Amino acid sequence: MLTETTTENQDEPPASATLASLKEFHSAGRGFWAEVSDAEWNDWRWQLKHRITSLERLQRLMPTLTPEEYAGTMLANRKLALAITPHFFNLIDPADAKCPIRRQVIPRLEETWTAPWEMTDPCGEDSHSPVPGLVHRYPDRVLFLVTDRCASYCRYCTRSRLVSNATGYDFHPHFDRQVEYIAKTPAVRDVLLSGGDPLLFSDEKLEYLLSRLRAIPHVEFVRIGTRIPVFLPQRITPELCAMLRQFHPLFLSIHSNHPRELTTEVREALGRLAEAGIPLGNQSVLLRDVNDDLTVMKAHVQKLLLCRVRPYYIYQCDLIAGSAHLRASVRQGLEIMEGLRGHTTGYAVPQYVIDAPGGGGKVPITPEYVLSRNADRVVFRNYEGRIFEYPEANDGRPLFRAPQRLEEPELV
Ligand code: SF4
Repeated sequence: MLTETTTENQDEPPASATLASLKEFHSAGRGFWAEVSDAEWNDWRWQLKHRITSLERLQRLMPTLTPEEYAGTMLANRKLALAITPHFFNLIDPADAKCPIRRQVIPRLEETWTAPWEMTDPCGEDSHSPVPGLVHRYPDRVLFLVTDRCASYCRYCTRSRLVSNATGYDFHPHFDRQVEYIAKTPAVRDVLLSGGDPLLFSDEKLEYLLSRLRAIPHVEFVRIGTRIPVFLPQRITPELCAMLRQFHPLFLSIHSNHPRELTTEVREALGRLAEAGIPLGNQSVLLRDVNDDLTVMKAHVQKLLLCRVRPYYIYQCDLIAGSAHLRASVRQGLEIMEGLRGHTTGYAVPQYVIDAPGGGGKVPITPEYVLSRNADRVVFRNYEGRIFEYPEANDGRPLFRAPQRLEEPELV
C-alpha cells in the first residue's frame, strides 16, 4: 500500500495533502478524563496509576472492541499484559477498527497463533547473556536490561517473554553483578540501558545507576532506549532532564512508529530533552497497517526532525511469537526506503535493518544502487533511476593515467 507510488484513488486526497495533515501537531487532549485537574493529568505517576489494564475497563471506555480484540484482551495476561496510559489511549480512534495506534497496544486473538518460525527470544538475547539482565553480543557494547515494566505494552514487543511478566519469566536484574561484569570487561565502551523502560525508574534510582556506570573509566558512552516520551510525555520533567544532563555523553533512543504519536505534548517533552543537550534518535518497527506506507513513513520521519529527533532505525518486525498479523514484508520495507532516499532530507532517512533471527545482530537491508562493477568503473543508479559511472579499477584503486607526452615543454 505505497500510496505515493500507486495511482491515486479518485476518492482519496492526494498524497501531498495526506502528508501535510499527518504532519500536523495535535494535543492528545483529555478524552474521558475531562474532569481531572491539570496537576493530576500532568503528573506521570497519576498517568501510570490510571492506565487501562483490564478488559472490563477497556470495554467500558471503548465499546467498539472487535471480537478479535475482545478475545485477545481476555487472553493477554498469559502472553503480554494489557496496559495503556490515558495519554496514549486518547490517540486511539474508537470508530476505526484499523486505527494504527489501536493496533499497536490493544491485544488481538491472532497473538495466540504461533508459526513454527516464530520464537519467544527472536534476537537470541538469553544465549548471549553472561550475567542475568546483561546481553553482550557485539564486541564493544552491552545491553543492560533494568526492568520488565513499561508505561504501555506494545503487542509486537521483542522482549514479550519477560516484559510485563505475563509468561512467568520472573526477570530479576542484579545491578551489582551487571555493573561488575562491565567493570571487569575493558572492551565494553558503550552501555545501552533498556528493558522494559528505564525512564520508569525514579530520578534517584536512575541517577544511582548512571553514576555507577560513569564511574567505570572505559565506559565512554551511555544510551537509554525508551518509549516513555511517546507513551508518557509527562515523565520528561525539568528535574529528570537536569539529572540526565550530568551524564554526557548520554544519547537517548525513543521509539515511535506513527506520526500521530508525535503530539504537541510529545514534541514539548522531546524539546526539554534536546535542551538538556541529549542527542535524540528514533527507532521504528515496520508494522502492517500501522506504518507500512510511504506517505505515513515520510510524514513520520519529517515530523521527527521537527521534534529534534533524528530517525535512526526502521526495524523489520522480529519473528516474535504471535506477531504475524503485525508484520509487514521486507519488500514493503525496501520500497519505503527507496521512496525516502533522495526524496527527502538525508537526516530524515533511517537505516532499515533486520535483527538476524536467532542472534546474528542487526543487518542493514538496502535497495540495490550499485548495478555492476567492471574492470574500470562502478555503474550505479540514483534515486530517480538514472544511470551513472564512477571510474575505478576493479581492485578499488583510483584510475590514474600519466601524461603520455609533454604538449607544451616550455611550461615545465
Ligand atoms: S516499550 Fe519497548 S520494551 Fe516496552 S513493550 Fe514496547 S517495545 Fe517492548
